[in-house]
Amino acid sequence: MFESLSEKLGRALKSLAGQSRLTEKNIEEALREVRMALLEADVHVQVARAFLQRVKEKALGVEVLQGLNPTQQFIDIVHQELTAIMGGVAPEQPLDFASRPPTVVMMVGLQGSGKTTTCGKLAKYLKKNGRSPLLVPADVYRPAAIEQLHVVAKDAGVPSYRTEERRPVEICKAAVAEAGLKGWDVVILDTAGRLHLDEVLMDELAAIKAACGPTEIIFVADAMTGQDAVRSAGAFHEKLGSTGVVLTKADGDTRGGAAFSIKHITGTPIKFVGAGEKLDDFERFHPDRMAQRILG
Ligand code: GDP
Repeated sequence: MFESLSEKLGRALKSLAGQSRLTEKNIEEALREVRMALLEADVHVQVARAFLQRVKEKALGVEVLQGLNPTQQFIDIVHQELTAIMGGVAPEQPLDFASRPPTVVMMVGLQGSGKTTTCGKLAKYLKKNGRSPLLVPADVYRPAAIEQLHVVAKDAGVPSYRTEERRPVEICKAAVAEAGLKGWDVVILDTAGRLHLDEVLMDELAAIKAACGPTEIIFVADAMTGQDAVRSAGAFHEKLGSTGVVLTKADGDTRGGAAFSIKHITGTPIKFVGAGEKLDDFERFHPDRMAQRILG
């Protein structure tokens, strides 16, 4: 992710090297190239515009201190603004926990985005961090998804909820109640996905939310789908008030546009990134570190 953006940004910033001052003219020239690099990386036009505007304002406002390299000053500004547009410095804890356990984490997203796999990844991550998660299969429309979640749970070394119940809201409610009795402190709900957003799915998710009071509603976004992922993240957030995003398939051939755009467009931060099919291919998303990587 971001390899091509990184290379092109590097080239754009090099154009400033050797300049003794940051002037409106040389800033504009560099920004033109930065803009092209962003759009080629599939960054949302609105996001690219906001980003460039902020960099320009800051760069023009900056007093070039004697002895300080103007290129370095400009790169510092780009770093600060890359970080800001991707969500700023990540909080110490990626997830909020309910004051009274169990904490309910609802995972939502389109079919094939990697939701079930991500449930397992998150469970394993939480277990490593001293929590006792319970995985709950609530995608009753795809029996294979239920079995898949049980397999993933075994792999992650965490329990999964088994029931004959076939109504998603009832499954989730009963699982949360059981977690309370058995001392599992985080309940991860693997909800149904569809190929496309539809009202029936959204109504079902809203009903689960109302019944279970999740602390976190995490949208699972497939980075490979670029701006479609950004649009879907926005739609789910509008309907459900999601609290964050996990960006999956960041190991694939993606230019990074979704990673760059989601926070600015939807207002919800990317909390984790999935970069492979294995349960350990999962890490926190740190905008400042990502900005550093983009700048090379
Ligand atoms: P769901 O339909 O949203 O529950 O998606 P699944 O969890 O079944 O995942 C769909 C496919 O994507 C499976 O083949 C997963 O192994 C794969 N997958 C999930 N996350 C990642 C990831 O981060 N990287 C890669 N390369 N593949 C992933």
